[in-house]
Amino acid sequence: MDLIRNGWFSEIKSLWPGQCMSLEVEEVLLHEKSKYQDVMVFKSKTYGNVLVLDGVIQCTERDEFSYQEMIAHLPLNSHSNPKKVLVIGGGDGGVIREILKHDCVESITQCEIDEKVIEVSKKYFPDMSCGYGNPKVYTYIGDGFEYMKKHTNEFDVIITDSSDPDGPAEVLFEEEYFKLMKGALREGGIICTQGECIWLHLDLIKKVHTFCQSLFPVVDYGYCTIPTYPSGQIGFMLCSQNPETNFKVPVRTWSEKNKPNLRYYNEDVHKAAFVLPEFAKKKLQE
Ligand code: SAM
Repeated sequence: MDLIRNGWFSEIKSLWPGQCMSLEVEEVLLHEKSKYQDVMVFKSKTYGNVLVLDGVIQCTERDEFSYQEMIAHLPLNSHSNPKKVLVIGGGDGGVIREILKHDCVESITQCEIDEKVIEVSKKYFPDMSCGYGNPKVYTYIGDGFEYMKKHTNEFDVIITDSSDPDGPAEVLFEEEYFKLMKGALREGGIICTQGECIWLHLDLIKKVHTFCQSLFPVVDYGYCTIPTYPSGQIGFMLCSQNPETNFKVPVRTWSEKNKPNLRYYNEDVHKAAFVLPEFAKKKLQE
């Protein structure tokens, strides 16, 4: 099916039936099939360059900072001293850029299934991919599920920046994957995964939340707003092995003097991210 018609890209998918986000296209910069997915980059009229995988918007230059800052700083600022961080997916590099804002982090390992995404990001999204090449960053090309099977007791924080559970990322929403992540954490470790949207995927969120509660002593769902993800909202499932963790209150912050450039995240936003509207709160408490 044509992704672009009459100069507009429309994100039509059964994952969000009966609705779609459309962006006006200025120019298609790349459109090819990688080993795993359909990869497209276009220059939009008002959102800068846009990365689309299998017809789904992954990031736009205008609003990516919201998601990248939140998926990185919610878990990292909930850990007292994160040194070793693992990123699954995240080929655009935005999450790595954010993790590098934490001086205490000594190494960032990334496992991305599709090297094409990294290559494309380096070319068309320089502000996101700027962390590749940093000596703290090790990139490994492979499936996150398989990677996790081979690593135990290694990481302080694991961030799964995956696409939606349709295609190569499907396995990253299964209970087995969360069990493997638990095993890959060091004592007191924290995980944070792309947690989908309360307006569209509350049943899935509930399912993941329920099995996470059986695996970890502390589990919470936080979210951010972002115009180009379906329904303008996306969440994060956070789990901690440390029973003392309270995700609602960051244990670390930056001082005014050494504060990095942040455009969405601040201490108040961190706390507010876990305040859910009544329908979502009820569902997760059921
Ligand atoms: N935040 C974005 C969203 O929700 O739309 C996702 C951004 S990031 C580009 C998602 C990345 O996960 C993609 O580069 C994709 O190739 C990667 N990915 C998907 N399945 C994977 C798997 N099984 N193992 C590792 N990486 C995977």
